[in-house]
Amino acid sequence: MSEKLSCAHCGQHLLTYEPREVKYGNPIRTCPNCGREYLDPRVREMAISGVPGKEFSKAGMLLCVAVGAVIALYGWYKFGQAVRLPAEIRAGCYIALGAVVMLGGIVELIRVLTGTKQKKYDFLMEESQQRVSNESYVAKLKFLGYPFPEEEQAGNDQSS
Ligand SMILES: [Zn+2]
Repeated sequence: MSEKLSCAHCGQHLLTYEPREVKYGNPIRTCPNCGREYLDPRVREMAISGVPGKEFSKAGMLLCVAVGAVIALYGWYKFGQAVRLPAEIRAGCYIALGAVVMLGGIVELIRVLTGTKQKKYDFLMEESQQRVSNESYVAKLKFLGYPFPEEEQAGNDQSS
């Protein structure tokens, strides 16, 4: 499923990545071979692309917790039924798996509820807005083919 990116100018292999992988920051990189600039396809400029709502979806996290709980409970039920060791071990695996899914959801939920995640994203957004307030930086992104959302084309016109 992973894709490869090569330099458009010299063909140097630059990186291998998962298409769904997303990071936030400055996507402009320099080819180590020819020194030309390119875009890291994994990196989004937050002030331009925004943050997907799912990053803060409490419903998604609660679903995660609920699914984890169901798996763990099912495991617990199977554990009660189990008499022989292999079945016990299998049930134990369900409990462990469910607990991990549940904990993952709980940790994310706590990060959102306490504002820790929001703070981190606010900080990233501030950095991003600083970069985007630089017109030549935005022009460079456009030149390199960064995907701008359609509606926000007239975004930063009145800055000086
Ligand atoms: Zn190159």
